[in-house]
Amino acid sequence: MSDCLFCKIAAGEIPSKKVYEDEQCFAFYDIDPQAPTHFLVIPKAHIGSCGEITPENSAVVAHIFAVISQVTRELGITDFRVVSNCGEQAGQSVHHLHFHVLAGRDMTWPPG
Ligand code: AMP
Ligand code: ZN
Repeated sequence: MSDCLFCKIAAGEIPSKKVYEDEQCFAFYDIDPQAPTHFLVIPKAHIGSCGEITPENSAVVAHIFAVISQVTRELGITDFRVVSNCGEQAGQSVHHLHFHVLAGRDMTWPPG
């Protein structure tokens, strides 16, 4: 998508602090971290949110979770939270599917 911030980050057109990259997905540190470790994992292909996942495009979601498992292991992180906000009421501000990975502090439940 031409006017999408995270499409531009995935394409390297906007700089980010990269954590991981392969042909399907891109991971980078959040610019406004909410925990000592806070990075985002996104599909390179534009999907607007969790609400736009379909049987045709869902394979990348399984891949992203395998990447989250690998990257956290490599970073020595065993305890972490994965969050995806879908829609304005849930707090979604960037309309390109992304999974927050947060670690390094106690997490409240239920989340605020
Ligand atoms: P959400 O509010 O769930 O849509 O999450 C969007 C996240 O993207 C927020 O945590 C922002 O801090 C983060 N963010 C926005 N712009 C950038 C950027 N240029 N680089 C890294 N993270 C960003
Ligand atoms: Zn996008």
